[in-house]
Amino acid sequence: MPIDSIKKEEASHRSGFVAIIGRPNVGKSTLLNQLLGEKIAIVTPKPQTTRNRIRGIKTAPNAQIIFLDTPGIHRASSLINKRMVETALQTLGEVDAILWLLDATRKPGQEDADIATVLSQSVTTALILVNKIDLVAKRELLPLMEKCSALLPGREIVPISALKRENVDLVLELLIKQLPEGPRYYPEDEITDQTERFIAAEIIREKIFLLTHEEIPYYTAVGIDEFREKDDKNLIVITATIYTDRESHKPILIGKRGAMLKEVGTRAREELERLLGCKVFLELFVKVQQGWTQNPRILTEFGL
Ligand code: GDP
Ligand code: MG
Repeated sequence: MPIDSIKKEEASHRSGFVAIIGRPNVGKSTLLNQLLGEKIAIVTPKPQTTRNRIRGIKTAPNAQIIFLDTPGIHRASSLINKRMVETALQTLGEVDAILWLLDATRKPGQEDADIATVLSQSVTTALILVNKIDLVAKRELLPLMEKCSALLPGREIVPISALKRENVDLVLELLIKQLPEGPRYYPEDEITDQTERFIAAEIIREKIFLLTHEEIPYYTAVGIDEFREKDDKNLIVITATIYTDRESHKPILIGKRGAMLKEVGTRAREELERLLGCKVFLELFVKVQQGWTQNPRILTEFGL
């Protein structure tokens, strides 16, 4: 190789957008956090936790990847779900590559077949990732991979464990190869384009998902009323309102003598302090906003 082209190779920089898709609970947010090496997307054992597209920015020496963590594609039942599906589908047309996650512990379902149909019509490169292989016996892996591969033939397929960080670096390598040459869009120390305000609301919502049951989390939204830095005291004051769709949820979200609200607040505050690197004063309120999950105006207000 002539010296000139070696130099060019070294200098070339790749960049692009990558969507992470897959049915709810396959581990999309977990993978995004691992790819970035930092937690920006909330992770819970309940499906449909992620409501917005989260941008995570990974800067490598010769590449920058902007990841979009999409809400799961699934059969739409209510308006809020329909919006999430639309968001997901819209995302696929705007990206340079797609990571499609499958769950090694669950049989591919109708949703997976739907995604495969969409992907087979798309010209965008898709990598198939079979996630949660830490839960599968070694001898079951090969037949499983064959089954998954049959859903979307001819595409590269990689077994991973997002949780244990297995093959995550390999995924990064393969992705970078797929990206076009391009500039660095964001400063190298930036890992998300979400505001601290938004992340604060997401962290509070995550704690509600982890601490409450059944339908309650799905009828809950969090709005940040105040986010004020007190530089002199190295303190951030956050006031937030938890909105619920139903009157009957309010006492549950507050808990006996405020115990639930206190627990949500303590856990969220501890995590926010770690993330923001300073003391946080967090005050939470609960408000009933009937019908918000069906109200387009309110959904838009929450960025959905
Ligand atoms: P999402 O809905 O696709 O964003 O999924 P999440 O990232 O929120 O993960 C859903 C659940 O699966 C959480 O309880 C994760 O801890 C768990 N999970 C994700 N990846 C793995 C993995 O590789 N192995 C195991 N054992 N659990 C995982
Ligand atoms: Mg998620």
